[in-house]
Amino acid sequence: MDLLEHEGKAVIAAAGIAVPRSRLCATPSEAAAAAASLGRVVVKAQIPCGKRGKAGGVRFADGPAAAGRAAAALLGRDLLGHRVERVLVEERLEIVRELYVAVTVDPAGRGPLLLVSLDGGMAVEAAFCGPPTSARRLAIDILDGLSEPAARRLVGDLGLPDGESASRVLLALYRVWRQQDATLVEVNPLAVLPNGALVAADCKIVLDDAAGYRHAERSVGAPERLTGLEARAKAQGLAYVALGGSVGVLANGAGLTMATVDVIAHFGGRAANFLEIGGDAYTRAEAALGLVLASPGIRSLVVNLCGAYARTEVMVGGVIEAWEKLRPEIPVFFSVHGTGEAEALALLAGRLGIRPFERMEDAVRAAVEAAR
Ligand code: GDP
Ligand code: MN
Repeated sequence: MDLLEHEGKAVIAAAGIAVPRSRLCATPSEAAAAAASLGRVVVKAQIPCGKRGKAGGVRFADGPAAAGRAAAALLGRDLLGHRVERVLVEERLEIVRELYVAVTVDPAGRGPLLLVSLDGGMAVEAAFCGPPTSARRLAIDILDGLSEPAARRLVGDLGLPDGESASRVLLALYRVWRQQDATLVEVNPLAVLPNGALVAADCKIVLDDAAGYRHAERSVGAPERLTGLEARAKAQGLAYVALGGSVGVLANGAGLTMATVDVIAHFGGRAANFLEIGGDAYTRAEAALGLVLASPGIRSLVVNLCGAYARTEVMVGGVIEAWEKLRPEIPVFFSVHGTGEAEALALLAGRLGIRPFERMEDAVRAAVEAAR
């Protein structure tokens, strides 16, 4: 999950990193009012991605009227594939130097990596490509963490004038990365002000969704753009993604679902949905079947079950119960294989009068043809 700039700044500010004074605004008049109290400002589109500066999403305004105009130009506009719902109106910093600091995950080193460059700002990509005179990478042992001497050494190596406050920023950055289960905490630019103070002019945080359960307290996050059905699925604890095709898919487990979507494409069809229901699908079969049947444009359905630890007759039991309530009106093609298969086939034959295809690909091909 990508945090918006203002959400990220709230997180790093709580960890002791200085951020500019700012107000989050949803209308031009709010932006004008914010500028009236903040003075010269920067008006920044809040979208969950970087490179806003180059795309025109960061505008300078010298007073309330200009701030209102800048906000009007940004709000509601599509920027880098995202609709701008809010702007951050921020006191304008006088920046004498732009640094880059980040903690990320290094796949090669299999651990956290601290990145620092004296050449931050909008052209930072070049900073880590050239000779390493102005940039440093430091692999951190996750069991030891980032020590104060290591942080000091790094900023000393780079020749930063105020080593003490720079290393404090690095230590805070790493603390945030670790405590928040982030995969990226990036401040670019970390602005050096005329008095030498370091202020985070921008902040990008990416959280590891897999660790979300460790952060029940969290209320922040970029609003996800869910279709109505996706939102309904989420409320029911199911991961449903609308794919826009005409062949519905109900399969147990993400791997089998992806394989089914691929085989549909192989036979020239298009899947209507991706729906991860997992091995305990039978407990939520009704919700799942209801979602798939409600997919717009759906004309046929593949039910593809494969049992290993989870038994197919248990899954089929759940599907049958759902079936009897929902009574699908489109053609449905079954493939059932693995643990409990004989019992599953007997159940399907007895309760629904259905005999599954012997080969999965035949079931999928039939579904693709039926959808034409
Ligand atoms: P990004 O392009 O999405 O990374 O957006 P940033 O928030 O980093 O803003 C882009 C650029 O605008 C920064 O690299 C700075 O050069 C400039 N900028 C942002 N805030 C300020 C500010 O308060 N004062 C000044 N002078 N420049 C700023
Ligand atoms: Mn930036």
